[in-house]
Amino acid sequence: MSDDFPILIAEDDPVSRKLLEKILIKAGNKVVSVENGQRALELFNDKFFPIVLTDWMMPEMDGLELCRAIRKNTYPGYVFIILLTAKDSKDDVIMGLRAGADDYLIKPFSHAELVARLNTGKRVLELEKSLKDANEEIRILSITDPLTGTYNRGYMTERLPQEIKRARRYSRALSIILCDIDHFKKVNDTYGHLAGDRVLKDFAQCIRHSIRQDVDWTARYGGEEFLIVLPETDVNGGSVMAERLQSELSQRVTETQGKKISITASFGVTGFSPDTPDEMISPEAMISKADKYLYQAKREGRNRVMGEALD
Ligand code: GH3
Ligand code: MG
Ligand code: MG
Ligand code: MG
Repeated sequence: MSDDFPILIAEDDPVSRKLLEKILIKAGNKVVSVENGQRALELFNDKFFPIVLTDWMMPEMDGLELCRAIRKNTYPGYVFIILLTAKDSKDDVIMGLRAGADDYLIKPFSHAELVARLNTGKRVLELEKSLKDANEEIRILSITDPLTGTYNRGYMTERLPQEIKRARRYSRALSIILCDIDHFKKVNDTYGHLAGDRVLKDFAQCIRHSIRQDVDWTARYGGEEFLIVLPETDVNGGSVMAERLQSELSQRVTETQGKKISITASFGVTGFSPDTPDEMISPEAMISKADKYLYQAKREGRNRVMGEALD
């Protein structure tokens, strides 16, 4: 546990500093020490310390100022601050806590007490970590489609406008593919809804495997319809990608409940290039155009790719 929480010591007196280092290292901690608050703050620019053990009286920047400066900044996590002080009046203690210290130790302190108070700090930090982990898990669930594991439509609504803005800012192309499984209702009607689910999962997996990892992304747009976003790719590149997906799909078979199920899909593609006028481009315009060509692909017999650039 201690390895996860490196400690920064700020103490101007070399003897006390060495002693603190020794006690903390012996208790299994990773420690960095500096001689005043200013140095401590500077170090924070390079590296984050979740625990700070600071003396009060130091030249240049004292412990109180350090507490205030840390509380003013934003760091990747909570900083648990223990103030070491020779001052022991109630008013001093209150002043220390008000400045942002979480706890204090009055010099001379016992080694056991120092270690015990540090452990209290670590408990708080552990709690913070588990809350963060839980939040991250909830965040991931909230943007994921539970059946297929792709992003969901909510995520798409948030991310597509950002992706478009980014492409415009850096004068890049961007294309999207809207694809829809052909006669999927028939799959459900023939093999049952569970088999249909299996086919949907395979379809999503096929998309995920075919696109460029870490650059392209896909989201479930609706029932058996997926949107694929291809940054740095113009409409021609998008069509090539869709055709590759179409061909990949033709070689795939979903085996479930002893049955072999093959599907095809139809694809509507659109995109813009750096010289497409701004007023032509919006998430709605893109989806509407891709949808129009998807519909046309369906009308012209399905299992095909159709599309056109936005301009
Ligand atoms: P088309 O080629 O015109 O797209 O025909 P289609 O049958 O694929 O389209 P339609 O819109 O008529 O039907 C879509 C079907 O997709 C109906 C719906 O029950 C099914 N579906 C949507 N979501 C799910 C799902 O999560 N699981 C399963 N098994 N089926 C789903
Ligand atoms: Mg001092
Ligand atoms: Mg369909
Ligand atoms: Mg559909």
